[in-house]
Order: sequence, then structure tokens, then C-alpha cells
Amino acid sequence: MDRVVNFSAGPSALPLEVLQRAQSELINTHHSGMSVMEMSHRSKAFERILQEAKSRLRNLLEIPDSYKILFLQGGASLQFSMIPLNLLQKDHEAAYLITGSWSKKAVKEAKKIGNVKILATSENDSFRSIPDFSKSTLSSKTSYIHITGNNTIEGTRISSVPKIDSIPVVSDLSSSILSEKINVEDYGVIYAGAQKNLGPSGVTVVIIREDLVGNADPNIPSMLNYATHVEADSLYNTPPTFGIYMMNLVLEWIESLGGVAEIESRNRKKASLLYEAIDQSPLFYSPVNKADRSLMNIPFKTESDELDQAFLQYASSNGLVELKGHRSVGGMRASLYNAMPFESVERLVEAMAGFERQISATSN
Ligand SMILES: *Cc1c(COP(=O)(O)O)cnc(C)c1O
Repeated sequence: MDRVVNFSAGPSALPLEVLQRAQSELINTHHSGMSVMEMSHRSKAFERILQEAKSRLRNLLEIPDSYKILFLQGGASLQFSMIPLNLLQKDHEAAYLITGSWSKKAVKEAKKIGNVKILATSENDSFRSIPDFSKSTLSSKTSYIHITGNNTIEGTRISSVPKIDSIPVVSDLSSSILSEKINVEDYGVIYAGAQKNLGPSGVTVVIIREDLVGNADPNIPSMLNYATHVEADSLYNTPPTFGIYMMNLVLEWIESLGGVAEIESRNRKKASLLYEAIDQSPLFYSPVNKADRSLMNIPFKTESDELDQAFLQYASSNGLVELKGHRSVGGMRASLYNAMPFESVERLVEAMAGFERQISATSN
């Protein structure tokens, strides 16, 4: 069996141990005599899986009891609409920090629901940095501040959560949840599609402070109202059962490694190894402002599209795939999510050095 090193930005690599465990349980999950995919979502066996996944997530992120955990569908993209539908009060506004393509999509949806104020944007810097929002002032009628905690496409991250007049902060952590320690109490809502750091696509995690639930207009569709899902404990309708099962296995895997602190330390080592290789390279460079660099998604480039192409090909012939940068940024992008082992990043760094030698040999 030849598995490649998969640097995809999402859906992305899962821990091999988790895939093997799922394979071994696929046709007979937890001695039920059936696959988890064939189980009633109201069965005892599935209820156990759901509760395990919830309590593992609560322990790993140290989520206080005053926060609810929901497993929903529709991806992070549906949250772009659910957040304003549920949180944006009449005659209020929502403040958005624009740090990349995903924040822009979040704003686009929020504007359909109510008033949006742009807290700050780094679009004029092609999103290579996080804009300074420390001097921003907001009206007393601001329902929430929305941020994109990690910018998957541009390779930046927000390292300090805005604290302005105790306005609740909503963060899209789709590409960084569980990658480093966070203080959940800094946030009103955290949401994340699962397919980057948590499991397969199809399930979206929402962590929401209790007092932010139940304020929506009762006439919005039930499925879009957080209160519906809180009351039914994520079982209002059929949840993404297989995705929740897989996420539970990923969470168990993180526990077995030593939790988020250990994962964070591994992620920092992986990211430093690659950033050092980029910074020392005569060929490759990072387009991102140093202070704002992501631990998860690392874009890098050469000075020409032809060399980028040649490197992508060289990497691919060495079993290193999905390194092509997003079309809006170009070059390369390596996504080093939790499941990416240190050794795989070493292989990438070796390939970069090998390619540099090849280029300098042909140019001499
Ligand atoms: C991938 C991603 C999304 C979109 O997620 P879907 O689950 O496909 O809707 C939104 N925000 C961020 C930061 C992402 O990385």
C-alpha cells in the first residue's frame, strides 16, 4: 500500500491509525452487528458515540459548562448565515474583521441579514497580514465581532482575540481548531467545518455560549435556529452520523497523544522547520508578514510560475502531493494540520533542498 504525503488544505489527511481503526470497525461497529452508517441515530449505540465525541471535545478544549456543543451540517459556509440570523439583533450592527477570502464570504452573507461594519481589512495588502484593529471603536449597538481565526488560503492567523467592550467574538476556526490551546471564554461562538482538523467533511462543530442561544426571530427556519439544535442535543433531525463517529476517533487519537498542549508543541515544531527552510532558502520565499504566519497553512513561492510548476512536479514525483497554492495566491501551500507527522514535513524540506541543488546545477 502506497500512501502519499497529502498536504491538502481540505478535506485533508487523517491520522493513519484512525483510518485503520475505522476500517477494522466498518462492518461491525462496537459489536452492534452493523456499521455505524446503518445505525439509527436514536439508538443507544449511536447516542454513546455522540456523547463521547461531545465530552472529548469539551475536555480537550476545556469548554466551560456554560457553552453548548453542536454538531451540524452545511459546513462552515452555512454558519456565515446562521451567525447573523441568530445573533444580529434588530437595529444593531455586526463588526467583521476582513483577513481573507473566507472572511469576505462571511461578510457577504451577513449583509443579506442586517447591518455590517468593517472593523478593519488587510485587502489592500493582499491579505498578507492581519490588520491592526486595536484602535477600532464600535457602537454600543454592536451584536458581535466576527473574525477568521486562521486564514486557510492566505496563511495568516490572528494571535490575539479582539477584546472590545465585552462584545461577543465569533470565530471561524475551521482550519485551526484543536491545533493550539485557546481560551474558549474569549469567544461567544466558535465554529469549524470538520474536514481540516477534526475528521471527514459533512459535520460542522459549533461551540456557543448559552446566553447567545434563543434570541433569534422565531420565524427563521427551525433548522437555522441554534435553539432547535440545543434543545434536541444535535438530534433534531438525522445528524451526520458517520462524520461524528470519525470525529470521535480523531478526538480519541488526540487524547492518546497527550491532548492539545502536545499537539500544539508538535505543530510549532513542524511549522518552524518549514518556515526556517523557506527563510534560509535562496529560491523559496514566504509572501506572509512574519508576525502573522499561520501554524497550519504555509504558502511559499519562487520568483517564477515556471519554477513553481517545476517544484510541484518534483515534489509529486517524491510522493508529496496537493502542494499547489490557492489560485488567488499562486505558488505552493503546505497544510500541516494535526494529522501531518513531523517526518512528512522533513520530507518536504528535503525535497526543497534537493530541488534547489538541481536548479543551481543546471544554471551553472
Ligand atoms: C474551509 C473553510 C471554510 C469553508 O468550509 P465549508 O465546510 O466547506 O463550508 C470556511 N472558513 C474557513 C476558515 C475554511 O478554512
